[in-house]
Amino acid sequence: MSLNTMTCILMKFHSCFLCVSTALIYGCPFCGVRFSSRRTLEAHLQYYCSKKPADFVSLADLQQRLQQQALELQTSHTAAIDQEYGK
Ligand SMILES: [Zn+2]
Repeated sequence: MSLNTMTCILMKFHSCFLCVSTALIYGCPFCGVRFSSRRTLEAHLQYYCSKKPADFVSLADLQQRLQQQALELQTSHTAAIDQEYGK
């Protein structure tokens, strides 16, 4: 078996594996419906989702806000610890 054939088989297996493992990994954070691509999810969020909040702008914006929230949570948590042990 040549190296090319090996690579070809590996690639074939790899893409199949990728197809399976990446299928339906994009879930709507509001209604839980899953999509196979980010574009489909974005379209769903933009036009079709019936459970999205009124202030929803875009997926990128949502991710940014969640990140900001996590950061604020972390900061307030650290501040609480400082208060408790800082005395
Ligand atoms: Zn949805």
